[in-house]
Amino acid sequence: MTFQQIFNHPPETQASASGRVNLLGEHTDYNDGFVLPTAIPQQTTVQLGFSNDGQHQFYSENLQERVNILDIHHSPSGFASYIFGCIEVLKQSGYTIPSLNVYVQSSVPIGSGLSSSAALEVATIRAIRQLLNLPINDVEIAQIAQQAEIHYAGVQCGIMDQMACSLADTQHILFLDTRTLERRLLPLPEQTSIVVIDSGVPRTLASSGYNQRRAECQEAAKLLVVNALRDITDEKVTETLPEPLNRRARHVVTENNRVLEVLQGVEPEHFGELMNASHASLRDDYEVSVPALDTLVEILQKTPGIFGARLTGAGFGGACVALVALGKEKAATQALEQYCHAGYQGKILVPS
Ligand code: ADP
Ligand code: MG
Repeated sequence: MTFQQIFNHPPETQASASGRVNLLGEHTDYNDGFVLPTAIPQQTTVQLGFSNDGQHQFYSENLQERVNILDIHHSPSGFASYIFGCIEVLKQSGYTIPSLNVYVQSSVPIGSGLSSSAALEVATIRAIRQLLNLPINDVEIAQIAQQAEIHYAGVQCGIMDQMACSLADTQHILFLDTRTLERRLLPLPEQTSIVVIDSGVPRTLASSGYNQRRAECQEAAKLLVVNALRDITDEKVTETLPEPLNRRARHVVTENNRVLEVLQGVEPEHFGELMNASHASLRDDYEVSVPALDTLVEILQKTPGIFGARLTGAGFGGACVALVALGKEKAATQALEQYCHAGYQGKILVPS
């Protein structure tokens, strides 16, 4: 179904935003640390028109679901909460937003850790900015999107996803300091391409595990008398902490240092080694991996033509990202076949 078929009039405007994958810097964003995401080719597109009957109406082509907002004092649930949240946060920022008809269509895999949620928010706010000519910049879009996700979708997220969806592109890596929002677009390692493979294992424990790690990091920072673990640069300092806070903190410190190393400019081989070291740290120190992710990463790391691989996203299931030599993309398919022979059901998400 098209916008026209759903709402009986053509859209006034439309805007898109890409999903993202994080190459390095995992579980660092809520520690005020550094991250290195890049945009993926898949995008979410939002079409907008004015609603004439005084209520917002949202339609998702992916979910084939329509939601009418009858009571703006009552936040909707599900996908509508992300769009409604964006509208409400814009209103709280002082803008007058009329009733809207919103049509969503996306090629970003939903719920696979490639940030379909932030892509939806950023595309929605971009489209509203365009429709109403609002004077907001791309960083402000990310901040509004994050507020929408926290306060209306109920997800305690950092700023990485929204900044990546708003500011990254597929030709660069976005270096982001999540404390200062200082950022830099770095070239992708030369002659490489990014492959993302879904492990086929759902992220069932992800939210409880994520909240627990956040709490552990806060506790570690408190014991070390710093505002956030980002303020520790020497991993030796973490040795004074009790188990398991010492290992949680060591992951954050070493992971931040790995991201900073990339800022100096690194060859693909070294970038791959940093990704491998990141996975080992997430597995052993941060304990957010699961056997399927370890198996997939191990196969990818051993496959010729692949510089490095790691789990990406919060962990406890979800996807792995690999840095592959340009022209050797078949290596990832071979690795996936081997993984599936081991009894798992993986799938290549990027390239689509
Ligand atoms: P991720 O961001 O990793 O894809 P999340 O759980 O954070 O996973 O966000 C997924 C949620 O975002 C979906 O359950 C849905 O509510 C919303 N969403 C994202 N893209 C779409 C879309 N195209 N149509 C409808 N809802 C979407
Ligand atoms: Mg998300």
